[in-house]
Amino acid sequence: MSNHVPYKIFITENDMPRFWLNLQAFLPEPLEPMLNPQTGEPVTAGELSQVFCEECVKQELNFTDKLIEIPEPVLEFYKMYRPSPVVRAYNLERVLDTPAEIYYKFEGTNTSGSHKLNSAIPQVYYAKQQGLTSVTTETGAGQWGTALSMAAAFYGLDLTVYMVKVSAQQKPYRKAVMETYGANVIPSPSETTQVGRSILAKDPETGGSLGCAISEAIEVSMKSDRCRYVLGSVMNHVLLHQSIVGLEAKIALDRYNVTPDIIIGCAGGGSNLGGLIAPYMADRLEGRNNVEFVAVEPASCPTLTRGRYAYDYGDTGRTTPLVKMYTLGSGFMPSPNHAGGLRYHGMSSVISKLVHDGYIKPRAVKQTTVFEAATMFCRCEGTLPAPESSHAIQVAIEEAIKCRETGEKKKILFGLTGTGYFDLAAYQEYREGTMTDYIPTDEELERGFASLPVIGE
Ligand SMILES: *Cc1c(COP(=O)(O)O)cnc(C)c1O
Repeated sequence: MSNHVPYKIFITENDMPRFWLNLQAFLPEPLEPMLNPQTGEPVTAGELSQVFCEECVKQELNFTDKLIEIPEPVLEFYKMYRPSPVVRAYNLERVLDTPAEIYYKFEGTNTSGSHKLNSAIPQVYYAKQQGLTSVTTETGAGQWGTALSMAAAFYGLDLTVYMVKVSAQQKPYRKAVMETYGANVIPSPSETTQVGRSILAKDPETGGSLGCAISEAIEVSMKSDRCRYVLGSVMNHVLLHQSIVGLEAKIALDRYNVTPDIIIGCAGGGSNLGGLIAPYMADRLEGRNNVEFVAVEPASCPTLTRGRYAYDYGDTGRTTPLVKMYTLGSGFMPSPNHAGGLRYHGMSSVISKLVHDGYIKPRAVKQTTVFEAATMFCRCEGTLPAPESSHAIQVAIEEAIKCRETGEKKKILFGLTGTGYFDLAAYQEYREGTMTDYIPTDEELERGFASLPVIGE
């Protein structure tokens, strides 16, 4: 049956899921609660609602509903760029001379160039419903900021984006895209917030980090009643929105009786991975399949492979609630030489728990290896992949090569989360041989772990 699979499996908009899948409601035991750092007590919905939109807080703390309805207006927007295709990578299979079947779900078909729009749309929709007039956020590589500018423009909300300074310098056109959609983009750390000024006072030359941009965005959102902070990854409600990716993939693959043996996703904060695996992981947790799940991260920011499973802050300014997750410590400053996203010190608590309990296997890959995979992929599959996505491509290639050696006909599914048009400076460095592989030493990681909070102090 599965040898009749077409290059692209298109489902129609009528086949699109009407419900998101809430993976946290499937966990064998509940997640450990987020804690208020002052009291050490679980945070309440009321406390979270000072920072986030109310509906997102409800979803964040919803541990019981397995399915949550996608609001009709959100579905209407989704239909402008979804469903996204599942592609059978026949050409890559040929080049690798592998008996494996390789499939990817391609999320780069919208202007943001990534899956981020899937969560930007509902988050801004809920903000508007609540009567807010503006939202703030951070962006690293720029895809989230772009997605959110698209959503804010559509719903007529003001948006301020704190963009990690090195990224703003590496990718000036990202800023131009966001501004075209009407967003106010500020390189972070900046002089516009107290936390930005204090970070700059300590380290005037810093290139910034996601953790630090988050602190700035939160500070600004706290100043107004009509403004809230929105986050593009890590949080449970973001994983919920991203489940559209996996649900569509499963509908498409089920048509051809294909159940993946292994599902691979890159992991920055965990949202695309959580979304892609959602329906398959739900089945696995309920004993209906035995799919293998792999999270791929950069060796330069090895949260899952070398981090601690501990309570930590989500931001450098230590303003967020404490979350139990894999972390390198909120004080960890990722190497500026690393291109693209995936540079966050922490990780989604759902993904962290699934890794901790052995359901997801983490792997770290080196930057130059990632670009080698990206180059091979674009030459045979046509699409220029985002560097983030290329972490997953690399592991898919490794798995397909293993099958060549063992003769196994594994079905491999990976997430092609986006396109790499704004990452051409990095592609060029790779081709010119000036790209380096930075891997932090144990001592450097220890310095990050030293910033981990002691609960109750
Ligand atoms: C943001 C981003 C990622 C990583 O974020 P996750 O929350 O881990 O999914 C991966 N790929 C692309 C293209 C992105 O924009």
